[in-house]
Amino acid sequence: MRIQAWSDGGGTQSTGIAALIYTGQLKPPDVAIIVDTEREASQTWEYHEKITKPKLLEVGVVVHRVSKSKYATVDLYGGKEKDTLLIPAFTNQSGKIGKLPTFCSNEWKERVVRRFCNELYPNAEGFDLWLGISRDEADRMRTGTGKWQYKHPLVDDKRWMNRQDCLKLVRSLGWPDPPRSRCYMCPNQGPREWQDLETNWPEDFAKAMAFEAEIQKRDPNVFLRDESGSQGDCMSGLCFV
Ligand code: SF4
Repeated sequence: MRIQAWSDGGGTQSTGIAALIYTGQLKPPDVAIIVDTEREASQTWEYHEKITKPKLLEVGVVVHRVSKSKYATVDLYGGKEKDTLLIPAFTNQSGKIGKLPTFCSNEWKERVVRRFCNELYPNAEGFDLWLGISRDEADRMRTGTGKWQYKHPLVDDKRWMNRQDCLKLVRSLGWPDPPRSRCYMCPNQGPREWQDLETNWPEDFAKAMAFEAEIQKRDPNVFLRDESGSQGDCMSGLCFV
């Protein structure tokens, strides 16, 4: 028994998958999961609760909202000494601005999805993990190993949808445009996303600033925003969907 497990990332491509399921163009998965990193931007949940969740319920699909803290073994710090910051924060420790590696995406999202699925289906022979990756992000597609394989419903079966195709389908249903799902303090946000957070989601922005002050207590060289804005709007492709 191979289980079809959809990891709903909550953004445009995942909403494209939701729309395909809703319109009957894609057979529903056995299980649908959206991980709550417990630092997710409020707009992700607003969209999920108002649009994706109720629409999918109409066609009998329940999206499990899974708390990261229930399944992850680490939070902000990991490594042997438990002193490695797991988010891709900026650092100027070497005198030049650099970025730390991204471990959070794997620890807080993908491993959480896998542990949840293993718990739900202890006798499964394997899992096909659906990822919301569109044609324009083809370099992010993955090949699995053994028990865990990946599927990309937006491009599989000659669907070959790009991000614009997802938006077109979502809009054709009268659904609003989905947000870019992300943690409110994600250093991969570009200037436009930070500005949006500050203007439209001031509570999230305040939490992000408090978060930055907190991580700087351990390492004053790390920060969340490159003031030069050189990172651009780069959320796409940098986090597990
Ligand atoms: S959105 Fe950013 S901070 Fe959150 S898990 Fe992904 S890479 Fe990490």
